[in-house]
Formats: sequence, C-alpha cells, structure tokens
Amino acid sequence: SLSDRLGGVFERLRGRGALGEADVRTAMREVRIALLEADVALPVARDFVEKVTEQAVGQNVLRSVTPGQQVVKIVHDALVDMLGSDTAELEIAVTPPAVIMLVGLQGSGKTTTTAKLAKLLKKDGKKVMMASLDVNRPAAQEQLAVLGTQTEVATLPIVAGQTPVEIAKRAMSAAKLQGFDVLMLDTAGRLHVDQALMDEMKAVSDIANPAETLLVVDSLTGQDAVNVASNFSEQVPLTGVILTRMDGDARGGAALSMRAVTGKPIKFAGMGEKLDQIEPFHPKRVAGRILGMGDVVSLVERAAESIQAEDAERMAGRLAKGQFDMNDLRSQLAQMRRMGGLGALAGMIPGMKKAQAAMASGAVDEKILLRMDAMIGSMTVKERAKPELLNAKRKIRVAKGSGTTVQDVNKLLKMHQEMQSAMKRLKKMGGLKGMLGMLG
Ligand code: GDP
Ligand code: MG
Repeated sequence: SLSDRLGGVFERLRGRGALGEADVRTAMREVRIALLEADVALPVARDFVEKVTEQAVGQNVLRSVTPGQQVVKIVHDALVDMLGSDTAELEIAVTPPAVIMLVGLQGSGKTTTTAKLAKLLKKDGKKVMMASLDVNRPAAQEQLAVLGTQTEVATLPIVAGQTPVEIAKRAMSAAKLQGFDVLMLDTAGRLHVDQALMDEMKAVSDIANPAETLLVVDSLTGQDAVNVASNFSEQVPLTGVILTRMDGDARGGAALSMRAVTGKPIKFAGMGEKLDQIEPFHPKRVAGRILGMGDVVSLVERAAESIQAEDAERMAGRLAKGQFDMNDLRSQLAQMRRMGGLGALAGMIPGMKKAQAAMASGAVDEKILLRMDAMIGSMTVKERAKPELLNAKRKIRVAKGSGTTVQDVNKLLKMHQEMQSAMKRLKKMGGLKGMLGMLG
C-alpha cells in the first residue's frame, strides 16, 4: 500500500524535526503513482500533488506516528477536503414540484439511477413522478415505465412523437396538476458529447428549471472522466454528480477528477444494478480507497450494524492486538453470511482480497461459508485457539467430522493465515484504532 511505500522514503527522516522538501517531493512521486493507479485524471493528480506538497513541507514530524503515516494522513485529509467533507444531500426544498434532472453519457446509469433516487424519495414520504425524455434510444421510455412499475412510482404516460422539450412541458404540468412533490427527468444518453443533444438539454433545463441537475458518471470511466465532466459542466448548470458502478473495481479516482473539474459535490454512489443499491457518497471511504488502505471505516460501520455491540467491541479489541484465531474467523464467516456474502466485504479489510482468492475459485457462496463453519465446528477448543496444532492426523479428523476433505481443511487454514497476517499488518500500522484515527 501507499503507506508501506512511503515508509521507505521516510526511513531517513526518523529523529529529525520537520518534513523536508526533498523528502516530501520524493514521497509525492509515490502519491502521484497511487493517484494514477486509482484512475485519477493526470492533470488533476498533478494539481493535487502540488497543493499537498506545499502543505506538507515544513510540518513538524509527530512523535507518535512515522513520517510515512503522517504524510498519508496529510494526503488523506487533503483528499477528503477536496472530495467534500460531508455527505451532500439533495436540495429539493423548493415550491413543488422540485425537478431533478439527470444527465450523462449513454450507459452511465441515468435511467437506473432515476429509479433508485425515486425509490429513496418515496421512502422519504415524497410523492414522486418520473418522466423519460429519451426519444433517441428505442424503448428507453418503456424501460423507465417498467422501473416505475417495479418501484411503484408513477411515470408520465408515453405519447409517441413528442420532442424532449414537449415531454418536459407535459411532465411539468402533470406534476403540478396532480400535486407531485418531485419530478424526475431522465434524459437521453449520448455516446460522446454532442452539440445537438447539449442544446436540447439546455432547452429542457430552461423550461423545467431543475432544483438539481445531476451528472451521472460511470466510476470506471477513468482518465476520460475529465473530458466528460468539463463538457457537461460548461453546457448545463450542474448541481452535483452521481458516480455509478462503485460496486465494481473502480478505485475511486473518477470521484476526485469529477470534483476537481465540476467543483460540484458528489451526492450518491451507485453500488449495483438493483434498485436499492445506492448510497450517499462518503468522501472518507473513497479517500481511503484511493490511497489503497482498505475501506476499514465502512467495514466497521457495516459490522456494527449486524453484530451485537459487545461482540464488535470484543472483536475490535482483538484486532487491535493483531489477534485472529479460528473463533474470530468463525464469527467473521457468520457476519459474511448475514451481510450477503464475501463480495460485499472484499477489499475492505487490507489483505482480504487475497484471502478471498485463496477460497475456492472465486465463486463464494453460502454453501462454502457453511462448510467452513462446519470445519471450525469440528475442531477442538485448543485447535480453534491455536490452528497450528492441526497436523495431518487432526486434519483428517476435522475433515471427517465436517463431511469435507483434507484439501478443504487446508484451504480454510490458508485463508485463516492470510487474514491473520493482514491483521498483523494492520497492527503494525498502529492497529485498527490508529487506522481509524488516521481516517478521521
Ligand atoms: P443510461 O443509458 O445512462 O440510462 O444507463 P442505464 O440506467 O440504462 O444503465 C446501463 C447499465 O448499467 C444497466 O445494465 C444498469 O443495470 C447498469 N448499472 C447502472 N448503475 C449501476 C451500478 O451502480 N452498478 C452496476 N454494477 N451496474 C449499474
Ligand atoms: Mg437511459
């Protein structure tokens, strides 16, 4: 991770008073690489590093942490600062109907996100109507109608042959007449930034006067994100950004690029194809992801939701000490089952991705988790506390007792070992507590 890489750079700095310019510049080269690896656009990474260098040079070296950790913290704080220090809400406290317009490239997730937001707002007690202005793609309006049925949100009846501006007008008057609180406008996609469609969007914006105009961006867009963002933000008055496919392996770099170019807050993150898979955007988590520290904050938050408080506390205490035995693994497995499989957790604990790869062929399902639970159940109390006791003979006994094979037992032991060493690494970084402190 970045932290490890910076460790070497600052080895020489130990015992000195302040962060020197040469050391910081060397460190920033690593930071720049980390940003680019996370898909931050090149000019954005350059500006960011320049700004942070100024901040870091001359800062006193703290005694309680290593200079490397301190720089990671400075970089982390600057990232959070730039991404927006808090989660941003939808601002729709206007005379109803409040119009929310979604714009963006084709396939970025506008239609899906329209339905997701409508569902959220409905849950919030709002009376919501959705209308599709996409007359370009065949069946685009029908797609939104289907989502409307699924979410039990009203959609504007489809009238063939209307222009987007005409549809917008009809939607406005229908929403007013029928007393809707919110009107969501899902606009046509475009493959590239295209002037005719931009003009059309401007015309719609003039008529509907949206309270929110949200740019929907695929977080996997990477280096191209800057062009998309600058083109859209020059042409329509954006109020915010939504990043989709944050469930994929995007490392969050697009978020920083978006924020830098549009200057607008990122309001939500799309976390999957299902209509409840949307979350408020958490700058701290994404900053952690960009720096490759593992998303420990969300891990802890989620864990706290589904396990009893004292259980969580006991676990945190053990993790802080770098302890992780079979009992810990067992309660982790139980949590994974409750939290919908390993997929949701992968990448959150440092080292977890590797542990996941050690399990089966990637297709981790409930059955595997249950089998692992059975294996741990077949171990003695001593074996659970000290898995290294498991010699060939004992492994055969455990395999028999759990209806598995010695190979399965070996896989479990390997996974446990990987997780245990991840916990040890975590401890070296100052433990879970230190890490959380660092994340703010
Ligand atoms: P549009 O062309 O901008 O309206 O895009 P759509 O809403 O039709 O979405 C395009 C595809 O992306 C669909 O298959 C969606 O299910 C998928 N999609 C949208 N948002 C997300 C997300 O947050 N995560 C994932 N994994 N898929 C998404
Ligand atoms: Mg669409």
